[in-house]
Amino acid sequence: MHPESNLVDELHALDLWQTDPLLRARLAERSDPHAERDDDPADLARYGRLIGSAAAHDWAEQANRRPPELQGLDARGRRLERVDTHPHWQRLLASIRASGALARPQLQGDWLRPAVLFYLHGQVEAGSLCPATMTQAALPVLARHAPSLFEALREPLLSTEHDDADRPLQHKRALWLGMGMTEKQGGSDLRSCISTATPTHGHLHGRLLYRIDGHKWFFSAPMSDAHLVLARSDEGPSCFFVPRWRFDASALNGVRLLRLKDKLGNRSNAGAEAEFHGSEGLLVSAPRRGIAVLVEMAGYTRLQCVVGSTALMRAALVQAVHYARGRSAFGQLLVDQPLMQQVLADLALEWEGALALMLRLAESFGRSAADPLERAWQRVITPAAKLWVCKRALQFCGEAMEVLGGNGYVETGVLARLYREAPVNSIWEGSGNVMALDVLRAARQEGEALQAWFDALQARLESPERARLAALRDALAAADAETQARRLAAELALLAQLSLLDGAAREAFCASRLRSGGTAGGLYGSSGIGGARALIDRACPA
Ligand SMILES: Cc1cc2nc3c(=O)[nH]c(=O)nc-3n(C[C@H](O)[C@H](O)[C@H](O)COP(=O)(O)OP(=O)(O)OC[C@H]3O[C@@H](n4cnc5c(N)ncnc54)[C@H](O)[C@@H]3O)c2cc1C
Repeated sequence: MHPESNLVDELHALDLWQTDPLLRARLAERSDPHAERDDDPADLARYGRLIGSAAAHDWAEQANRRPPELQGLDARGRRLERVDTHPHWQRLLASIRASGALARPQLQGDWLRPAVLFYLHGQVEAGSLCPATMTQAALPVLARHAPSLFEALREPLLSTEHDDADRPLQHKRALWLGMGMTEKQGGSDLRSCISTATPTHGHLHGRLLYRIDGHKWFFSAPMSDAHLVLARSDEGPSCFFVPRWRFDASALNGVRLLRLKDKLGNRSNAGAEAEFHGSEGLLVSAPRRGIAVLVEMAGYTRLQCVVGSTALMRAALVQAVHYARGRSAFGQLLVDQPLMQQVLADLALEWEGALALMLRLAESFGRSAADPLERAWQRVITPAAKLWVCKRALQFCGEAMEVLGGNGYVETGVLARLYREAPVNSIWEGSGNVMALDVLRAARQEGEALQAWFDALQARLESPERARLAALRDALAAADAETQARRLAAELALLAQLSLLDGAAREAFCASRLRSGGTAGGLYGSSGIGGARALIDRACPA
């Protein structure tokens, strides 16, 4: 026997709304006194309580410890193509669906509230955000490009119920949608797609039906009711709505699941390697426009990658600060030690910058159609943020883990899961380089909108950063922009974050990231942040 002391348990239940005053303050600044009653923050408060509860933490833990299993064949060798998941996974899906986050952008043009709901959810479980993100992103794409199909499925698409039964579309109360783009030979360069689409001369909902053959190397949430799939018709790569069951409900639709990915993280969420064997697909895009349509969908999912990474940062920060407040070393609480305060304050600043940016981006998604400034936030700054915030989350989670010392490294705690979760947001839906190149492309395409953005930012910055912004504008148009693309995207994201912060956080963010050569890409806790303790307490009140 040995005496036990100085032990700090991780937090396994937390009201995620009440304990996040900076989130509440930022949303209060935005609240519109003329808004409809359902803009009341009560449902966010409710969701923060629900998803932060001990029960939901347990759902997350169990769903990740017992990953999905593929049941390819039944006992007699007939094809099942079924993935069995933990019941707690279904509870997580039911929760996010019931929150209304999936349908709200479609129904009300509001991306902000769903982003906050995703942010709350993602602090507890990230895997379930994958099908939620894909479904949410597919709705505006279907409504715009295949309106009659959308109308035919409107009710189950927009439902706040969850229906996990494996049934044909017409018998479901709620539908989940995925996306199938990446093939073995390449995911970034979608022009390399080799899956084929052959017209069958059939029609449905005023659209041509095709026969799809080929494969997808990453096919997340394979039990989804349908996927938007890229396949090559005679005219070129096109986008198809490929349901799990055939449209006439007679049988499964020839989407063969070969294997589930054995992934680093995101383990609660199945990701399959799939083949199409004469699968029915309904043409969504105009022929040849498939890549553009799926990139439009990816535009929405990229926002949710930023949201998901901000959520991981918040969850890691809260655990790290909680631990440092309870654990002593060398006779003093960790949180009282000057060097640990530097680390925690730096993490708090990183998270606050990510939160501010994520909220501003989400806001722009609902307004970009009518306003060039908002279009610049959505179209140019979102890929920059996808690169920057998702990459910062990798190092962030590692640093937060280290605050817990060896206790952070073990799988019995939550930090290890957060750490394993972080890289996927950076890789999927456009990896870092692809995002940096997209920033350049968008800057070229949206010259006028970007100018409006530069003008607005100039007014929010002080002179050294204004000079930096001017240099950045020139560099984006320079001949060597491609080799500089990562740096330029990172600068855009940093200046955008700075412009959104106020007071002591703004000063410390500027000093630590922009004025001193910056810790950008550097070491957390290494830039001599002033007022560190106050920054920690502001982010995570004791
Ligand atoms: C957990 C998980 C789930 C996923 N789920 C899905 C899904 O449901 N549906 C789906 O379609 N895909 C999915 N993906 C695939 C993902 O979107 C791709 O992995 C990603 O788009 C990159 O494609 P790739 O793996 O083929 O890499 P490649 O395209 O081969 O790229 C490799 C590297 O080269 C870089 N690169 C590419 N082009 C350039 C360039 N011009 N200049 C410089 N560098 C470049 C990339 O940034 C990347 O770092 C998933 C991936 C993961 C990890």
